[in-house]
Amino acid sequence: MKCYFDYAATTPVDKQVVKAMMPYFFDCFGNPSSVHQLGRKSLAALDQSRVRVANFLNCQPLEVIFTSGATESNNLAIQGLVKKGDHIISSKIEHHSVLSVCQQLEKRGVEVSYVDVSQDGLVDLKSIEQSIKDNTVLVSIMYVNNETGVIQPIKEIGQLIKNINNQRKKSGLKSIYFHTDAVQAAYYCSLDVEESGVDLLSFSGHKIYGPKGVGVLYKKSGVDLSPIFFGGHQEFDFRPGTQNLAGVVGLAKAVDLILEKKHAQAIAGIKKISEQLLAGLKKSGINFSLNGSQKNKVSGITNISFSSRDSQQLLIKLDLADIALSVGSACSSGSLEKSHVLQAMNLSDEIIGSSLRLSLGYYTTPKEIVYFIKTIKSILA
Ligand code: PMP
Repeated sequence: MKCYFDYAATTPVDKQVVKAMMPYFFDCFGNPSSVHQLGRKSLAALDQSRVRVANFLNCQPLEVIFTSGATESNNLAIQGLVKKGDHIISSKIEHHSVLSVCQQLEKRGVEVSYVDVSQDGLVDLKSIEQSIKDNTVLVSIMYVNNETGVIQPIKEIGQLIKNINNQRKKSGLKSIYFHTDAVQAAYYCSLDVEESGVDLLSFSGHKIYGPKGVGVLYKKSGVDLSPIFFGGHQEFDFRPGTQNLAGVVGLAKAVDLILEKKHAQAIAGIKKISEQLLAGLKKSGINFSLNGSQKNKVSGITNISFSSRDSQQLLIKLDLADIALSVGSACSSGSLEKSHVLQAMNLSDEIIGSSLRLSLGYYTTPKEIVYFIKTIKSILA
């Protein structure tokens, strides 16, 4: 691959992560639930990983539930909390692993309000406040949008819900829980749950240079969650099934790397190379526009429209030139569906139809930027 601009879809696994995982495929392969020595060794590794993830989130180890990824974490958080007759507030720009769950629940008698976003792709706090009803039990708003990279006002939403819950206590109403899908935030933003005031938070290993097929649901102690799968007693009865131990160890190593001092340099490097990309595009005279707030976004994700060019065709031509990127999210690309995120931002059909998501990462090189600009310029010409 000459140019990989799809880090928001998935990242390669850091070599240090692979190294940390290796012993758990053969030497220490025991089932953490087995009582023999090998099982106990695996359990110790599982517990240590849980402590490290808890350190990353600033929570208690008992509040960390390992899952198969963020899709499962989102399903567990939402389906595990909501009952028929309850009301959820979410937004129009959520990932399908939240939106589809809400849509399914609507068929089962749950009410859902999907709040609007501004043209900049930011969720409106007032709309959340205005949507609250007596039967509201959950607000689920993503931390960073996967198509635009726009960072949502999570702390402010946390504070708003806290204030509302204080008022509700007096009137005898149940507290509203706050869930955030933090998949695209985990590498860039603080996931400190004390700071954000969230009750539930999902993230995934494979967007932070960890392995695929492993994720986390943070569940604040006391949150009244029911499991959605039934079986053994793993993960404090919230998620039965033998844990993906090598994956969990890899995820814990990936979060350790984020906590290292060097991580700030990695972020600065991604910012610099993203700026080089935009400067290069401008200099080359290519006609393009940027979608979503450029002030409130993570540096790795940039959503660009190349004036009136069909993005699917651009994607294919770029792929033929060995350049990997996405139209919208990886999960919806491949279909001709228009991006629900850009639609919610009220952008014109022309802008939506010509948009590409360029997501850069730790391994992106200036050579890739030069190659991309040269190639897209010749395709557009
Ligand atoms: N939420 C967001 C914002 C995502 O970007 C993704 C991955 N595309 C997911 C959830 C799903 O994560 P996973 O692939 O780990 O199930």
